[in-house]
Amino acid sequence: MLDVRCRPLALAALVLAFAGAAAWARAADAPLRIIVFGAHPDDCDLDAGGSAALWAAKGHAVKFVSLTNGDAGHQSEGGGALAKRRRAEAQEAGRRFGIAEYEVLDNHDGELLPTLALRQEVIRRIRRWNADLVIAPRPNDYHPDHRNTGLVVQDTAYMVVVPNVAPDTPPLRRNPVFMYSQDGFQRPNPFRPDVAVDIDSVIEKKIRAIDAHVSQFYEWLPWVDGALDTVPKEPAARLAWLQQWRSFRPLNDDVKAALRKWYGPKAEAVKNAEAFEVCEYGRRPSEADLRRLFPFFD
Ligand SMILES: [Zn+2]
Repeated sequence: MLDVRCRPLALAALVLAFAGAAAWARAADAPLRIIVFGAHPDDCDLDAGGSAALWAAKGHAVKFVSLTNGDAGHQSEGGGALAKRRRAEAQEAGRRFGIAEYEVLDNHDGELLPTLALRQEVIRRIRRWNADLVIAPRPNDYHPDHRNTGLVVQDTAYMVVVPNVAPDTPPLRRNPVFMYSQDGFQRPNPFRPDVAVDIDSVIEKKIRAIDAHVSQFYEWLPWVDGALDTVPKEPAARLAWLQQWRSFRPLNDDVKAALRKWYGPKAEAVKNAEAFEVCEYGRRPSEADLRRLFPFFD
């Protein structure tokens, strides 16, 4: 029924596209509205935290959404108590990034499915945020929660403009740009960065924000790695250990090429970056659109 091959709907989509173009032009000076989705209460931080800090510092509105409450992510804690702890950690991380909101949905960790109900929840959040840009993982990932987050968000890329879908929340009149966050998976196709953001100026802020996820970076992930006994107890030593232990995003050749495209010769000095790939669905941005969405390249 919603297939765009259907002529009246194709016409409606065209009208929406023109209305969207007008709205885009009118909103050229308005603060950007960015919404980032992750499966767990620390995924958005790792994928887009540096960029979020840069956007926030320029007065743009950034919201992080975790689709699960993280209640399986610990070796000795779990359930409601862990979910409560992780929600508090996410709030503190959001505060340290300087973003507007960090919402944690109450779905169980390790059990996320791409249901219609979840898709509608995501549609409502993108609409209420009046998003210009939506960021999510790709639907290829080792972790089923990550994979299903990618699938669910990707599946909203047209539905957010369809009035009869989730009709309790007014549709967007212009489709946001949807982008994928970086991953290292090769099949069926590797991540291909369209934009890379130099986050060297905020890498300390990013690590400080990630440090708020105590249950993860000082307890659960070191335990998974068999390295729990290497974690210092004292907060300052712990933070220094975190900087050493986690290599946040290795700059591969594709990311370096993307940095050169957007920053020119300055790219050679960049040590830390976050990269994003344009999703085929949603708005297809021009280069000028991408420069407006990522106002970092001057
Ligand atoms: Zn995760």
